[in-house]
Amino acid sequence: MTKKSTATASTAAAPRATVHGYPRQGGDRQLKKAIEGYWSGRVGADALRATAAELRASRWRELAGAGLDEVPTGDFSYYDHVLDATVMVGAVPARHRAALRADALDGYFAMARGTREVAPLEMTKWFDTNYHYLVPEVGPSTRFAADSSKQVAELREALGLSLAARPVLLGPVTYLLLAKPAPGTAEDFEPLTLLDRLLPVYAEVLADLRAAGAEWVQLDEPALVQDRTPAELAATARAYAELGGAADRPRLLVASYFDRLGEALPVLAKAPVEGLALDFTGPAAANLDDLAAVGGLPGRRLVAGVVDGRNVWINDLTASLTTLGTLLGLAERVDVATSCSLLHVPLDAAAERDIDPQILRWLAFARQKTAEVVTLARGLGAGIDSIAARLAANRADLASRVGSPITRDPAVRARAAAVTEAQARRSLPYPRRALAQRARLGLPPLPTTTIGSFPQTAELRAARAALRAGRIDAAAYESRIEAEIREVIAFQERAGIDVLVHGEPERNDMVQYFAEQLTGYLATRHGWVQSYGTRYVRPPVLAGDIARRGPMTVRWTAFAQSLTDRPVKGMLTGPVTMLAWSFVRDDQPRGETARQVALALRDEVEDLEAAGTAVIQVDEPALRETLPLRAAGHPAYLAWATEAFRLTTGGVRPETQIHTHMCYAEFGDILGAIEDLDADVISLEAARSHMRVAGELATAGYPREAGPGVYDIHSPRVPGVEEVAALLRKGREALPADRLWVNPDCGLKTRGWPEVREALTHLVAAAREIRGTREPTADHG
Ligand code: GLN
Ligand code: ZN
Repeated sequence: MTKKSTATASTAAAPRATVHGYPRQGGDRQLKKAIEGYWSGRVGADALRATAAELRASRWRELAGAGLDEVPTGDFSYYDHVLDATVMVGAVPARHRAALRADALDGYFAMARGTREVAPLEMTKWFDTNYHYLVPEVGPSTRFAADSSKQVAELREALGLSLAARPVLLGPVTYLLLAKPAPGTAEDFEPLTLLDRLLPVYAEVLADLRAAGAEWVQLDEPALVQDRTPAELAATARAYAELGGAADRPRLLVASYFDRLGEALPVLAKAPVEGLALDFTGPAAANLDDLAAVGGLPGRRLVAGVVDGRNVWINDLTASLTTLGTLLGLAERVDVATSCSLLHVPLDAAAERDIDPQILRWLAFARQKTAEVVTLARGLGAGIDSIAARLAANRADLASRVGSPITRDPAVRARAAAVTEAQARRSLPYPRRALAQRARLGLPPLPTTTIGSFPQTAELRAARAALRAGRIDAAAYESRIEAEIREVIAFQERAGIDVLVHGEPERNDMVQYFAEQLTGYLATRHGWVQSYGTRYVRPPVLAGDIARRGPMTVRWTAFAQSLTDRPVKGMLTGPVTMLAWSFVRDDQPRGETARQVALALRDEVEDLEAAGTAVIQVDEPALRETLPLRAAGHPAYLAWATEAFRLTTGGVRPETQIHTHMCYAEFGDILGAIEDLDADVISLEAARSHMRVAGELATAGYPREAGPGVYDIHSPRVPGVEEVAALLRKGREALPADRLWVNPDCGLKTRGWPEVREALTHLVAAAREIRGTREPTADHG
């Protein structure tokens, strides 16, 4: 720390505290309510705009009041910041231009959500977070045009409050790297080839912001933390040489987050920009050595992201101060920040009144993280004595976590430590299991099944709400669920489906349902995080060691099985997905946490098997989305992820059939991992990709059974028998009939009963047509 104090003494500027962005909707979910009200016609455009402006102002006041020296502007959004960038650079798809011309707000929402006439932009995950952005569509004929109005207006609002404000823009390189070829454009068109056309537009926006009073502007380039080709790195160098070379511009801060910059660091360090914002948390901590290796940023500003912007845990302030102290020697000035926008965390841990105070002291949401940044900036500038009390309290909080029986359950730890290779392996290799399963199940070729859930009706949700509110008791709720299961089983029998499901009526959510029944998991009351647009989710918090309190699903699966002679498939959420859709603890490697979850699920699998369940599906829709951003991280991730799956499923007898399900069609890069799961059957999304998936599986020599989806459940459209049969014929070209399953793309929970009835009836009829057995389907009236 002595080095730090001398360095600060000789540097004129005190470190500034800042963040890259903040939760958007407000403490009472005001923005969500206003936008949804606008969509339904209950809220006028002016009222929506007023609510938004009010929220922005109160947020800036809050941040400045908390002690931030510089607040971000332009990170606010009615829907998505990538869509805002699309509007800013004028890359509006032709099909949305008329709507946008007619009304800016309605046109904006048309791009986000589509209208009866036009499709929206495609939506996909923002790097490895659970936030979704709208994918820009560009082609050779795209002509960009600057529209800086939103950025300028928001900057003016903040300056009007007499605050030091820093506009935050999505950078031009990342914008193009996130874009995809517009419909009608060659599939191999590379959006980055449009860079030279895009840069003047960025230069114009930067000039406008300068004119409006911006001293600094931040350009976010998170795509540079992924593996980039030499051509992409050269384009980055060109982009910042050009933007940096412009005469009339604010100072530029280029920000990256979510991982180390790697090869892009020397490129940006050489660029004529005044500052870099880097992530120093988790794997991105490698930025520290990388920065030293390039000789630091002499004469420039470093915004050090030492407070993790996407987990929910308190910072180790002492460790962060050490990092900051080292960084002081590497730049002209060092400011303190979160690693990324606080968009990815809930607003305020203090609002969680139901969480045990013992645990609450370990949690930091956006407000608490902002306070940590302020504390660290003060400590860095004025010396650690100025924050001695905070440091002592922080050490005590951290120590209470290490020593807590919640984070250290000796029985769980002993069991995880004793895991053997053999436990994660089925007792027989796949071909021999397949024979045993065939003999036991006696299924026809092209067996039909579904992915698990049936429609989650309003009545089911109402019953759950009534139970929570105490209006009905557990017995009444359970008989409601049983009635639903009866109906689901009866329908599937009538429809002629071969492997049935109970329909998951008891599950509010496929992760939360299990989280609520495992020790170590916490639920939040107000921990909303934006998933996309006005959709917010409350991910459970994986805070401690994981153990099962008792069977979690057996009751419902066994009840369903008691109603029918056909096999009922048990249905579990896999360990990787349990982690991916939660806030995971940061005090041990993910692989260790996954192993604990896997052991708990393994017990459930064992109980299901003991109850007579012949087919058990373990869903892993998140397996691919959690792939580390850099390829170098893939092998280690896939090793623990597939081990966790095999540990979950490896204990069953050969004749018990293990299914898995993943809802995406682009899985080429994890085919090896899918094989390593050693599941017997996999169902995948394929309806929208027209069975391409089946061909890919065949080409890769996938030796097992697979069910590429033949009913796109994302659409209300019901496919006809002939359409499904055509897909199945395509599937048959790739996979033999005894290895091809017939199922929808994903669960049916978001669909209505009438569509589901019709679609599944068509699906069975098509399977029978291809089998050549046209026995009539029982009338499902
Ligand atoms: N079994 C789950 C369901 O049918 C799977 C959902 C998913 O893949 N996301 O709802
Ligand atoms: Zn799915």
